[in-house]
Amino acid sequence: MELTPTAKIRSRTQSPSSILLYKQCPRKYYYRYIKKLPTSPSIHLVRGSIAHQVMEDIYAVNLNHIPESQFLITLKVIIQEMFKKEWDAAAEQFAELNMSAEELAQYRAETQTMMHNFFHYLVDRLKLTGKPLKEAFASEQPEREVRLQSDHHGVMGYADAIQQEGSKILILDYKTSKKAEITDDYRLQLSIYGMLYEELAKLPDDVGIFFLKHGRELRIPMTPLMASRAKEEVAAVHDGTRSREIDDYPKKPSYLCKWSTGQCDFYNECFGQKSLNDFRSELVQIGKK
Ligand code: SF4
Repeated sequence: MELTPTAKIRSRTQSPSSILLYKQCPRKYYYRYIKKLPTSPSIHLVRGSIAHQVMEDIYAVNLNHIPESQFLITLKVIIQEMFKKEWDAAAEQFAELNMSAEELAQYRAETQTMMHNFFHYLVDRLKLTGKPLKEAFASEQPEREVRLQSDHHGVMGYADAIQQEGSKILILDYKTSKKAEITDDYRLQLSIYGMLYEELAKLPDDVGIFFLKHGRELRIPMTPLMASRAKEEVAAVHDGTRSREIDDYPKKPSYLCKWSTGQCDFYNECFGQKSLNDFRSELVQIGKK
C-alpha cells in the first residue's frame, strides 16, 4: 500500500532475531516489534539464557592456584556448580511457566547434560593448543558476548564467542536446538555476524555453531558471497518494515502458528479461538490455493 507521511517510520535497528522473525512471518514481526505486544516466557528461553551465562562466566574464573593435575576435575565441578546456582536463581521464572515438577526436572537434566557436553568441548579445544591445559585455559580465551554493530546497515547482534585460532578467526554461536544442523536460518544468522565482523575488522575465516545437546560443533567457511547475501537480506527487512500499518505485514500461516502443545504468542490475534483441527484445515486450504 502507498504510505502516508504519518504511516512512515524510520526503520529500527535490526538484529539477527528480528530479521529471522520477519522472514518467518511479517505479521509476527508487526505484533512483536511495532505493536510491542507482550510475549509469554518460555522454558527454552530461560534455560538457553542459563546455559549461555555459565558458558560466558566460566572463562572469568581464576584457576591459577589449582595444580595442573587437578585442573580438569576442578573445571568440571565449577561448571556444574555454576549451572546449579543459575538454575536455582531462575526459580521465579520457572514458576511463571506453570510446568509440572516432572517436566521441569527433565529440562534440568537435559540442560545439565548440555553443560557436560560443553565441558568436554572446552577441554578438547584446550588440548588442541598443545599447551598444558591450565595455561591454555588462561591464554586461549575467546571474546564472549561480542557486540557487533553496523550503523551503515542498521543491524546489531551479539556473537556468543569469537575465537582466534592461529591466524584464523572463528565466530561461534551456542544453540540448544534439537537438531545439530546448520539450517538456512542459522546460516543467515552466522552470515550476518560475519558481515558485521568484516566491517569491524575483516571477514572471519569460519562461522559455526556448537550444538549443546549433541556436543557437536559445525562450522562453515565465511565467504564474501555469504556477506553480500546477508546485506541483501538486511536491506529487504528494512524495506519491508518502514510502515506502521498492519496490512503491510501479511500473516504467513504455518505449523509454527499452533501445534499440539502450544501456539504462537499472537495466535489469538490472528485466529481468535480457532481449534487446532480447524486451524489445520485452514492451513490445508491455504496450501491448496
Ligand atoms: S499465529 Fe501464525 S500468522 Fe499469526 S503471527 Fe503467529 S506465526 Fe504469524
